[in-house]
Amino acid sequence: MSIFRNHFPLGLGTNRFLVSGPKDIKGIENSIELVCHALESGVTYADVGFHYSAGMTPMILKEAFQRTGKKFSVTAKVMYDQDKTADDACKRVELYLNAMGIEKAEYFTCWAIWNYEVFENIMKKGGVYDGAIKLKEEGIIDHICCSLHAPSEDMLKIIKSRVFEGITVSYSVLNAVNMNPILDAAYENGISVAVMNPLGGGIMAQNQDFFSFTCGEEDDGNTVHAALRFAKAHPAVDLVLGGVSNIDELEDCVSVFTQLDPEPPKKRTERVLRSAEDMRGFCTGCRYCDGCPKGIPTAAIMQARNAFLFEPCAAYNRTGPKDLLCNLQMFRKFFFDFNWFPDTAKNPCIKCGKCEKQCTQNLNIIDAVADTYRRAEQTYFTKTAHKERLYALLYQKGYKKVGLYPNGGFSNLVITLYREFFGEPEFEWLHFNSDPKTWGQMADGRIIHDPSKIPKLQPDLILICTYKYDEDILDSLRQYEQCGVRLEKLHRVEEMPWVF
Ligand code: SF4
Ligand code: SF4
Repeated sequence: MSIFRNHFPLGLGTNRFLVSGPKDIKGIENSIELVCHALESGVTYADVGFHYSAGMTPMILKEAFQRTGKKFSVTAKVMYDQDKTADDACKRVELYLNAMGIEKAEYFTCWAIWNYEVFENIMKKGGVYDGAIKLKEEGIIDHICCSLHAPSEDMLKIIKSRVFEGITVSYSVLNAVNMNPILDAAYENGISVAVMNPLGGGIMAQNQDFFSFTCGEEDDGNTVHAALRFAKAHPAVDLVLGGVSNIDELEDCVSVFTQLDPEPPKKRTERVLRSAEDMRGFCTGCRYCDGCPKGIPTAAIMQARNAFLFEPCAAYNRTGPKDLLCNLQMFRKFFFDFNWFPDTAKNPCIKCGKCEKQCTQNLNIIDAVADTYRRAEQTYFTKTAHKERLYALLYQKGYKKVGLYPNGGFSNLVITLYREFFGEPEFEWLHFNSDPKTWGQMADGRIIHDPSKIPKLQPDLILICTYKYDEDILDSLRQYEQCGVRLEKLHRVEEMPWVF
């Protein structure tokens, strides 16, 4: 029986609350009210990440739980990039529970499995999966799940291993051709499915006219309703995660799932998939173009470039220009869905034409590939660009101490890449974080410091690693320049996030 079956079909996504940080009292209060409303409306599941909504999600949920006397079933997510051992995983879950003021999390999620190698690392003896088993034996969690962002073949292998009771995957009209076999495999293997990004990361809501073909007669021309119903229509799917920012959006999404789908789900799936294949210029992900002699992932490139067909949404605190937003949309998909990150921006295409001859949609793949490598260069989306950046910022600068702010996925990557490119540094790394809950904790064997300690610790440089809030953090740290501390942002203008 599905581990998600008893939940209300809409799960609350918690990464879109309109709150900017601990000082945003109005944003926090509105978000708490939103969560209370979700609890009162019968929503029973929330997808929680520790850093979601500027790191405020756990605290917002805790307060809503206390006010309503009700609780969601929640996820505690452990990402291999951050937590590598069973002990790390157990400590991370403890942090989640304390921050939300609860004693157990129904779901443990091995978060963001990018490829089969990450899966194998999670499964190693003494690794994250062993930590999950221990927590399950102790009754601190009930179910071991994962979220998959891996290439299709890897997802299928992971599903068939049957080590997870549930999976969370991206699923919408935009990737349905590709993802349907994955959902079929989950269904056949008895693995429960929660779907994220049912509106294609906001693209469908932003481009309702373009996607009006997804509406059946009973959807009253409402593309958002049609998209949510489509995501739920596959028999493997029990939960559709909706990230909402206000009570109107929440009520609208809840209303979709308080009634049965007016169109038989199988009919809906088949109808929408047929129409998706007719979208002009749209890559369906059928992969007939696979097999490039130069190893170019043409299908991945073309699917990610679907982003250029639509009005882009604001993302990562950036509201424009349009080209930047399209690039974010496209490269994010490379990063999350296809695990593609080129070493250099040199386009290896020899224009043999093999891919275009096989394309079912007659797409101009050769031009698109060339444009994609050009954009990779322009936005520093290559390993070489990252190496050059770290060289310019840190290598042989005579620094004794380099601060990374905040600690997390970006700072871990900076440390790992520096070591890979240049060996052990001649300086000491220091971690800083504005969240008081992290102060004094260890991250990768290093203590996390309160930023007010900067004058005493006297780093030569503080590298602002995050992408979303880099301007805000820079402003908050300006005061330390007077003590001789140099401040730098990791990301340049136009640059794609090093971690999405
Ligand atoms: S034309 Fe370029 S991208 Fe297409 S198969 Fe040939 S080398 Fe690969
Ligand atoms: S053959 Fe065409 S439609 Fe199919 S995945 Fe390749 S580019 Fe996309």
